[in-house]
Amino acid sequence: MKKKPFVTLEKLQEIVQQVPTPFHLYDEKGIRENAMALKEAFSWNKGFKEYFAVKANPNPALIEILREYGCGCDCSSYTELLLSHAMGCAGDDIMFSSNDTPPEEFAYADEIGAIINLDDITHIECLEQTIGRIPKVISCRYNPGGLFKISNDIMDNPGDAKYGMTTEQLFEAFKILKEKGAEEFGIHAFLASNTVTNEYYPMLAKVLFDVAVKLQKETGAHIKFINLSGGIGIPYRPEQEPNDIRVIGEGVRQVYEEVLVPAGMGDVAIYTELGRFMMGPYGCLVTKAIHEKHTHKEYIGVDACAVNLMRPAMYGAYHHITVMGKEDAPCDHVYDVTGSLCENNDKFAIDRHLPQIDKGDLLVIHDTGAHGFAMGYNYNGKLKSAEVLLKEDGSFEVIRRAETPKDYFATLDGFPIYKKMFPEG
Ligand SMILES: *Cc1c(COP(=O)(O)O)cnc(C)c1O
Repeated sequence: MKKKPFVTLEKLQEIVQQVPTPFHLYDEKGIRENAMALKEAFSWNKGFKEYFAVKANPNPALIEILREYGCGCDCSSYTELLLSHAMGCAGDDIMFSSNDTPPEEFAYADEIGAIINLDDITHIECLEQTIGRIPKVISCRYNPGGLFKISNDIMDNPGDAKYGMTTEQLFEAFKILKEKGAEEFGIHAFLASNTVTNEYYPMLAKVLFDVAVKLQKETGAHIKFINLSGGIGIPYRPEQEPNDIRVIGEGVRQVYEEVLVPAGMGDVAIYTELGRFMMGPYGCLVTKAIHEKHTHKEYIGVDACAVNLMRPAMYGAYHHITVMGKEDAPCDHVYDVTGSLCENNDKFAIDRHLPQIDKGDLLVIHDTGAHGFAMGYNYNGKLKSAEVLLKEDGSFEVIRRAETPKDYFATLDGFPIYKKMFPEG
């Protein structure tokens, strides 16, 4: 499938008049349609709730849109809890799915009424010592180990992942938590990342529903929800077939009818913590070609770099690139598209077939809506970009300004050097 940007060249030219490149641009219409489709796909489940994985894109304006569709927030740290709480998420609108959790973060999560999802059996004691009791609603993260396979294809390697409790520990944890006063339980697992297949969630559901039935029988615990977490992927590459969320929802429903309903557990709520699927395709990084270099290879230098989008440098991830205005030109050039970091892996594309790129061309780097801006950092003293929302009515709004040198040096305030750089304070 040909990947098309959600924005036109004309619109981009209008935006860059006011917001200098690089910036991340988001598509309100796409976010809304997708959130609605997810809600519909799981409407068969009365308690269904998506907890958007805030780490994927912690922009309040975007989370606000998802809130309109009933989404809560899945948090993994203090600052994410702080943001979610400030946005009006209360009580079971927040899932705290962290790991290696600092005790103060348990305390804050409890204070704002978040549902706590324990990553390890030893965290029971840590939590109890920190807050002086065990919450009435509690969740445990499960890791069955081994390899997670779909018809002989290995999807991921949970046995090598740091997260979650073993089967034995999960049963033990439920017993201890129940003794200590927990009344309603959740089970959570995240066994494969960025799956581009409609089979992942139904297969994960089978694993979790089976264990839920056993847990209920053996421990008498009342299981309130099963959290399928994240992991539904997006087609970064043009040749990939996108997931169909309706097929996924229906697949989970069938397993639910097969396993939970006959066990008398037809009241269990399904929760999800999707990040990438909710935002990934509805964001792009807009950057300008500022240099071309002809040495041992052909290079195009752009004004964005890996601090704006780390996935290619970090994982060798593919992000599709459209040269705006040249969508139909032949891809008869082979380029490395690079940023300006003093790091040779600062490349958005390597040996990529693209149309001829001229200085000043606007490039759209696709699918940066999740784990894009959010993974940004400040290496080489680079500043984080602005974020812009392209609204449904065609207008646009800056939803986060770009960092300034003053932001970058903010933690040196109170030191003499800061006064030298910013005498005005
Ligand atoms: C990262 C994460 C998610 C979201 O994952 P995606 O791949 O973006 O869907 C959900 N839950 C937890 C606990 C996570 O760590």
